Amino acid sequence: MVRTLRRYVECESPSGAQEAIARLAALIAGDFAALSGRIRLHKFAAHGPALQVDFPGPRRSPRLLLLGHMDTVYPLGTLRTMSWSEHRGRLSGPGVFDMKAGIVQALFALQSMLAQGPLPCTITLLLVPDEEIGSPVSRALTERLALKSSAVLVLEPAAGAEGACKTSRKGIGRYTLRVHGQASHAGLDYERGASAIVEAAHQVLAISALSRPERGLTLNPGVISGGTRPNVVADLAEIIIDVRFLTASQAARADSELHRLRPGNPRCRLELSGGVERGSFERSKATARLYRMAAQAASKLGFQLAEASVGGGSDGNLTAALGVPTLDGLGAVGDGAHASHEFVVAREMPRRAALLAELMATLAAE
Ligand SMILES: [Zn+2]
Repeated sequence: MVRTLRRYVECESPSGAQEAIARLAALIAGDFAALSGRIRLHKFAAHGPALQVDFPGPRRSPRLLLLGHMDTVYPLGTLRTMSWSEHRGRLSGPGVFDMKAGIVQALFALQSMLAQGPLPCTITLLLVPDEEIGSPVSRALTERLALKSSAVLVLEPAAGAEGACKTSRKGIGRYTLRVHGQASHAGLDYERGASAIVEAAHQVLAISALSRPERGLTLNPGVISGGTRPNVVADLAEIIIDVRFLTASQAARADSELHRLRPGNPRCRLELSGGVERGSFERSKATARLYRMAAQAASKLGFQLAEASVGGGSDGNLTAALGVPTLDGLGAVGDGAHASHEFVVAREMPRRAALLAELMATLAAE
């Protein structure tokens, strides 16, 4: 498993690097083809392909979708400063935890199931090229395959050192607030101007005050820009806002409050665009049931599987929103996603692969 993971990590694959993603897809496809999986590449211009691998089971058996992504947040060349390393049972490198180890675990889970005879159910693996940038091109494909499936098992990293499954995730909204003021010469004509920057500063505080972190709703004005030169009263400023929410009603409330923002300076004008990017993944009965099955599978294997609610979204949000039973966080155990200390706990990998195989066998017997 470690050797396979190293090959995947050393094949860098940032979102948007079309050829790099295609190279990784070919590498992974080779490994799954060796297990007699049927390979399909869905090509997306400027993003690289999505990789679909089908393992047919008996007619009318349940169909399971294993969902993951090939892209990472690390630009090409990151390996020079963040090279593959194995130290005290920790495996490190760009994208190792989020989520190349999850792909390796799925490979070995399928290998062990196939070693025991024909598969008891139909299994499709889908690895998309653009999850880290919000799945703009692969979303429709993910949704289409999810709707044909009885359950979606997401290979994203587990939560915390204990490796909990993710049974709910926050939804994500992205908004841009443009503030239009009136430009003027800061020395000759100061009073004729209306500063978009000063107005934006008031708006930043108003937006931030809409957050209710204790209830799981946050609005983060994460990027501000505006103005041209120090001696010009700025006529334009822009605020980009990241919204995280637990429920659809919180998202609707945040949306209407953002639309209700008014300029303090009547000579300025506000223009809001954006909306919900990924709906929240609420803990449904179907997800709770999937979690209980996974926890039972874990206890058969001699360990306890906890569940967690997390702030980050994934493609599991998309499939859960369609009402397809979805369990997330079935991938690797480690820490530091998107950070330079990203690592995977090596000895957890066989156990997580076994868990995935056991859960798939349980679902097939339904
Ligand atoms: Zn991920």
